[in-house]
Amino acid sequence: MQSNRHPKVVQVALKIPFADHLDYQLPETIDPPPLGGRVLVSLGHTKQVVGVVIGFAENSPHNSLKPIIDVLDKAAFFNEKNLALFKQAAKYYQITLGEMIFTALPSWYKKTTNKPVPLQKWWQAKKTLEQAQKLLVAAPKQLEVYQYLNAHGPITSKSLTHITASAAQVCKQLAEKGLAQANELCLVDNQSASDPGFTLTDDQQAAWLKIQKNDNLFKVMLLDGVTGSGKTEVYIRFIQSLLEQQKQVLVLVPEIGLTPQLFHEISQRINGQMAVLHSGLSEGARARVWHHAKTGKLDVVVATRSGIFTPFLNLGAILIDEEHDLSYKQQDGIRYSARDLAVLRGKVENIPVVLGSATPSLETFNHAQKGNYLWLKLRSRTNQNPLPTIVLQNTNTNKPTMGLSNKSLNAIRSHLADGNQVLVFLNRRGWSPKMICHECGWVAECDDCDVYLTYHKHLNLLKCHHCDRRYLLPEFCPACGSQHVETMGVGTEKIAEGLKENLSGIDIVRFDRDSVKTPKQWQQNLETVRSGNPCVIVGTQMLSKGHDFPLLSLVVVVNVDNSFFSSDFRSTEYLAQLLTQVSGRAGRAETKGEVIIQTQFPDHPFFDALFTQGYEAFADQQLVERTELQFPPTTYLAIIRAQHRDANVVESFLTEMTTCCNQNQHVNVLGPIPALIAKKQKMHRMQIILNGNQRRALHALIHQLKKQFNADKVQWFVDIDPVTFE
Ligand code: ADP
Ligand code: ZN
Ligand code: ZN
Repeated sequence: MQSNRHPKVVQVALKIPFADHLDYQLPETIDPPPLGGRVLVSLGHTKQVVGVVIGFAENSPHNSLKPIIDVLDKAAFFNEKNLALFKQAAKYYQITLGEMIFTALPSWYKKTTNKPVPLQKWWQAKKTLEQAQKLLVAAPKQLEVYQYLNAHGPITSKSLTHITASAAQVCKQLAEKGLAQANELCLVDNQSASDPGFTLTDDQQAAWLKIQKNDNLFKVMLLDGVTGSGKTEVYIRFIQSLLEQQKQVLVLVPEIGLTPQLFHEISQRINGQMAVLHSGLSEGARARVWHHAKTGKLDVVVATRSGIFTPFLNLGAILIDEEHDLSYKQQDGIRYSARDLAVLRGKVENIPVVLGSATPSLETFNHAQKGNYLWLKLRSRTNQNPLPTIVLQNTNTNKPTMGLSNKSLNAIRSHLADGNQVLVFLNRRGWSPKMICHECGWVAECDDCDVYLTYHKHLNLLKCHHCDRRYLLPEFCPACGSQHVETMGVGTEKIAEGLKENLSGIDIVRFDRDSVKTPKQWQQNLETVRSGNPCVIVGTQMLSKGHDFPLLSLVVVVNVDNSFFSSDFRSTEYLAQLLTQVSGRAGRAETKGEVIIQTQFPDHPFFDALFTQGYEAFADQQLVERTELQFPPTTYLAIIRAQHRDANVVESFLTEMTTCCNQNQHVNVLGPIPALIAKKQKMHRMQIILNGNQRRALHALIHQLKKQFNADKVQWFVDIDPVTFE
C-alpha cells in the first residue's frame, strides 16, 4: 500500500533478468510516485530508463541507493489487479516481474521522454447544412470545411488539409459557432446499430442461458461450436449485456487479418465505443487505445495476442475467438500464451472468460471434460446446411501433375461451372520444396540452417524459409557433377501456375506470404474473391482461419501426409484442427459443400476417426492416447533450448544441466536432443524436454536451474507449455 508519509525507498520493476525489482531512494524534494506508476531512474552507470513502482519500504537491504530521477505518472498507470496479473504471470513463466511488465507495456510508454499520448480530435458536424449556410455566408472556407464534415465526419483535421492548410483552426472556429464538435474517439456510427432479429437456434439459446446464469463472476466457458453454428451471435449477445452494465469487454482474435471482420460484426450491433489493437498500428495509436481503455472511454477492444495486457477501468469479460490457434502463443522473447493468461486474468479480476472454437485444443477440451470449464456446445449450423461431404482421394492411383490429380481438376471445373468458388489448400509456399540430384540423391540445403531450400520460380532462386538466405540454382550436382538436378514436390506457386494453364479465363488468387505482403494486397485479394465471380483461391495456413467466403463450395487439400511422420506428439491434433477448419470454409452459405483430400493414406484410421465420428470423438480418443503415453494435457511440459556456434559447447552445456535434473522423481528428462531445426543461421540448436506430472515440481526444478546456470556463456531460455519443437 502507498503510505501517506514520505517513503524512503521505492521498489521499481525494470526490464532486467536478475531481479523482480531494484530499490531506489526517494529524494525529499520529489513527491512520492503512485503504486503502479512509472518513474525515471538510472540503471548501470549511465543509462536512464523507465521503471514501474511495485512497492515502498522504509529501508533497503542495499546500501547507497540511487535516487528516483523523476515521477512520470501522477496517478497509477497500472492498477492493483494489473500488477497482480503481472506478478502471477511472471511467476508462471519463470521470469522477473520487470520482464513481464515490459513485455506488456507498449513502446510509447517506455520512452524516457514521457511524451503525452497523441490524442486525436475527430470532428463532426452538429447542425444541418441549411443552418450552417446561413451562419457562414461571409466565411466561404469555413463553409467548405463544414460541408465536408457534414458528408464525411467524424474525421480528423489532418484529413481536411486538402481544403485548407489551417483546417485545425477552421474546425475550432466552427466549434465556437456551435456548428461542429470534437471527440477524442472516432465514434462508431451508432445510428446504424441494427438487430438482424435472429431467433436463436436451440443450441445458441441453451448456451446463452447458461452464460446468463453465471452472474458474470470468474468462470471459464468453452463455446464449442461447429463452423457456421453462430458463435459470433452468442458473443454479441454477451457483449451487449455487459455494456448495459457499463462494463468493458476485451475480444481476442488470432491474427490481424481477422480484426476487421469481427470489429465490423460487433460494431453494427452495439451502442458503444470500439477500437482495434494490434502490431499493425503505430506506436502512438497503440498507446492511445491503452489510454482510452484505462480511462474507461472504450467499451470494446478487439485485439491480437498482446492485447491481453490492455489495462481497463472496468473489465467485464474476456472472449477468445479460435482459442486453439497457435498464434496465441508468443514464439520469441517471453513465450507467453495469451489464452492461458486470459484465464489467469479472469481469475485475478473475477470475471468470466469465454473460449470459442470449432476445434478446441486438447488442453481446453480436457478442462471442459473434467468440468473445470463450462462446456457450451453448438452442434447445428444456423442455416441448417449439412456439413460438407468429405472425399479421400488416393494419390497412388490418381497421380497428380502440378500438384492436382485429374479427378480434382474435374471437380474444380464442375464447381466453377455452377458459378461457385474453390479453395486449394496447401501449407507450402514457393514452387517446390526440394531440389534434388537424381543420380546421387543430393538435396540442396541452406549452409546456415538445417533445412532444404525451396525453389521459387518467379525469382528463379532457391530460398531458405528460415533465414531467408537466397542461392543461385546449381547447374551441376555439387556432390557428383551430374546435370540431373531437378525440383521435386509442389508449393502454392506451382499449383497456381498449373491452374492457370488448365483453367483459362478464371481468376487464380494466391494467398501466401510471398504474394500477400501488405494489408493492401490482402485487401485486394479479398476483393477479387468477394466480387463473387467464380475463381480459385490457392492458399496456405494464412487462409485456414475464420475468414468467411460465402461462395466457396469446394475445398481441395493437397499433401497433408507429412503430419503422419512428424515427431511432434501434437501433429495429429493440429492436422485435425486444420482439416476441420479448412473444410468448414466450404458451403457456409446456400451451396452444399464438398471437400477433397489428396492423400497416399486414405485408409489411415485418423481420417475415419475425424470424419465419420467428428472432432469431439477424435479429441476423446486423442486424450486417452495422451494419457497412456504421458503427454500433455495429462502432464506438464517445458523445454529448455540452447544454442551456440559450436555444437559441442551446446551439447555439453545441456548435458550438465540434464545431470542436475535427473534426481527429480516428478520430472522426466529427455535430451539433450537436436531441435527440429537443428541449425538456424549458423547456430546449433539443442533442447532438453522436461515432462512432469506435477506442475509445481516442474516449475520448482526450472526455478532451481535458472539460478544455477544463470551466468553461463551459452544462450539459453525456457519455454513453458511449448507448442512447437522447432
Ligand atoms: P461461427 O462463428 O460459429 O462459424 P457465425 O457466427 O459466423 O458462425 O454464424 C454463421 C452465420 O449465421 C452468420 O452469417 C450469422 O449472421 C448467422 N446467424 C447466427 N445466428 C443465427 C440465427 N440464430 N439465425 C439465423 N442466422 C444466424
Ligand atoms: Zn548428384
Ligand atoms: Zn537458412
